[in-house]
Order: sequence, then structure tokens, then C-alpha cells
Amino acid sequence: MVIAPTMGTVIDSSYAAFADDLAAWCTQRDDAALRRAASSHHSRLPLEAVAAASALAKDDRTFIEAGLEIGRHLPDALHDVLLAFIRTIETLAAGDIATCFPPLERTRRKHDAALSLAPPNRRETPGSVPTRVTRFSASALNAYAECPRKWFYRYACGAVEDDGSSAATYGTAFHAALEDFHGDVLHPSDVPASALRDGLARQIDRAFERYSTKFDSELERELQRRRAHRTAKRYIAWLIDHARRAPFATVGRELPVRLEIDGFPFVGYIDRLDRDDNSGEVAVFDYKTGTIAESAVEYRERIRRGQEFQLPFYYWACTISGERVRSIALLPLKSHLVEVRPIELLVTESSSARTNGKEAPRGEITVSDLEAARAGMIDLCRELTSGEIREFAVTDDPEACTYCAYATACRMRPIPPEDRFGR
Ligand code: SF4
Repeated sequence: MVIAPTMGTVIDSSYAAFADDLAAWCTQRDDAALRRAASSHHSRLPLEAVAAASALAKDDRTFIEAGLEIGRHLPDALHDVLLAFIRTIETLAAGDIATCFPPLERTRRKHDAALSLAPPNRRETPGSVPTRVTRFSASALNAYAECPRKWFYRYACGAVEDDGSSAATYGTAFHAALEDFHGDVLHPSDVPASALRDGLARQIDRAFERYSTKFDSELERELQRRRAHRTAKRYIAWLIDHARRAPFATVGRELPVRLEIDGFPFVGYIDRLDRDDNSGEVAVFDYKTGTIAESAVEYRERIRRGQEFQLPFYYWACTISGERVRSIALLPLKSHLVEVRPIELLVTESSSARTNGKEAPRGEITVSDLEAARAGMIDLCRELTSGEIREFAVTDDPEACTYCAYATACRMRPIPPEDRFGR
């Protein structure tokens, strides 16, 4: 007898289980497995007969003997089915699975072939990662200094980032408002305070209207617009005081910079360039709506450690174009809760930079510090264009990953100590 699947030639899991039970009986005389096989619809045995044989099978009587006993009381047709089943399992017990289970045997052979292991691939020799950098920016070098893997995702892969957050759009709109405001107000010390306040408020409304579709919702846009208005009041208070102490004229807004340093082309935009009325020196400002260094000392140390290149790059861009740079400064516009207090470094020719205290927002940076930063930029450019980088390491500072757009894709990112049991 050939036991075929009840569903024609389809080998389903119930048929495979049926065959496994029969095999277990054949090889180990597992009576329980035989009862399961007999109860399967694939055996085609009447269930009442199987149940009766099971009940009759005791210590001194096997399931087969009980089945034969029951079979005597079955109608001829069912009796024949029972006998055929018993003959089949006896054939099986003789090891002739191919005769009784041809479809199953074919499937098993196919599966065995499918599961046989392929020969291992030869291990490739690791090669360098092509970076194809055609021009550099200080922010790209900052990204590389912060985390080479982040640089790789953003600048080598051109990986798509997320659409940006409301906080990022707040920064973009505030930048635009200040650009237009200082286009109207070139010499703040000549303008009444109320006109300064009204002028910036008007430009904020215009900018937030222009970027309205970039916010997640109308509510979010309104909240961020109000935040900008409150921060703007702080900004104007600082501007009035700053212009009163050292009158200046704004000579550049979103100033495009194209510069070649040691053969490496750089691009960037200076948020604002002011010229001092008395000395003619320029001050470079970079607006910041995110988190920045909290003191001049902290910011200077970041430059010295080769973690910060943006303002040194603007310094060199201005210097090479013939300007005398008095200071470089970050202008924080993140929070309306604290007064606007730029983190400012006065450039000094002397061999050491004075420190006004660790917490002070104002300090000094030497020209040799800025030269070292410039040399650091060139070193990074050489490294990135060497064609020898085989791996872009991840940062070891978990804080750098907090707002990283690639965190989901980055398996090797460092685990913050507080999460080390949670991943
Ligand atoms: S998640 Fe962290 S380690 Fe990974 S790319 Fe971003 S900053 Fe680098």
C-alpha cells in the first residue's frame, strides 16, 4: 500500500508529522507515536476503530494486536483498510520508506538538497571606502571630528535624513528673520530701541509665515513663533547695549565664503559680520539656536582639541580676504529664559590667551590657536581624501548620538550608561 497525502500530492505539515510518527514506531517501537499516526486522517482508518483499539491495548496487548482484534468486528471494507494500514507499517518497519511514502521521500530529498551547505565564500580583503569629496565645509569637518561614522552616513553615503524638527525650523526661521532685520538696520546705534524691537518682531512674523509649511502643525508654528518673539526681546536688549558700548555697522549677512586652503576647496556662510566704527576691525557672529559651549574657555578648548572648526574657518576666510578680525563669537538664540550672552573669543597676537574665569562668556584666543585649527582642518581633509580610510569609527561619546539622524541605522553606537541594560 502507498500512503499518499489526503490532499493529493501536497505534502503538508500534518502529513510530515504522520510520517514522523510512523518512523518513530518503526525505529523505536513507540506505541504512542503509532496511535497518533493511526488517528491521523492520513491513515484513513475509522476513528471509532482507532479509539477502540487504543482502549483495548494494555500491557499484554500492543496497539496492533488490539487493532487486529477490533478489525474482526468491522465491516469488510473497513477491515481491508485496517489490514492495509498494518501491512504498510510492517513494510515501513522493514525500512522501505520509498515504497510507502514516495511523495514524502521526494520532498525529503528535495529539502535535503536545499539545506545542504554551500561552500563558504572566500573572505574579501577589506578595501578603503571611496569618499569622493569635492569640497569641504567647517560643519562637515565638525561632524567628522564629532563622529567619523556620522560623517560617513551624511557626506559619503548621502544618506537621507529625516524631514527636520520644529526646533530645526525655528532655527532656520530665526536666522532668516535676523538676516532681513540686519539688512534693514545696518547701524543699530542710530536706531531707537522701539524701532529695533518692532523691526525684529515684524521680520520674525514674516519669516515664520514663510516657513509655516515646515512646522509639524499650525499650533507648533505658533508656539515657536512666540518663543522667537520672547527670545528676540532678549536679543534686542543685548544689541542695544553692545552697539552703545562699541558702535558698529553690519557689513555682511549670510555671507558666502569660498576659499582654498592648502589646495582644499572650502565653502561656508558667515551669519553676520560687523565692522567696529572706531577700529575698523570685524567681528564674526554665528547664530546658534541649539546647545553650545557655556563659556569662552569651554569653546576655546573645543577649538584647541580639534573638535570645532567653524569660527576658525570664518576667521581665516576674513583674514585671507584682508580683514582684521577682532573677535569670533557664537550668538545663542535658543532660550528666552536667559539673557543673550554671546560666547566670544577676542583674537590676540600674544603667545597666551587670557582667561576671564572659567565661567566667563568672554575670553581670548591666540592666532597660533587659530593656526593650529587651520592645520587640523588640512589634516582632516588629507585623511578624508587619502583613499585609505577602511573604517569610519563611531564616537565614544553617547551624547553625540542623542539627536543623530542615523542613530536607528547605527548598530555600533555607544550605549549611554543609563541604558546599558535596556538594549
Ligand atoms: S548614532 Fe552616534 S555613533 Fe552612530 S553615527 Fe550617530 S553620532 Fe555616530
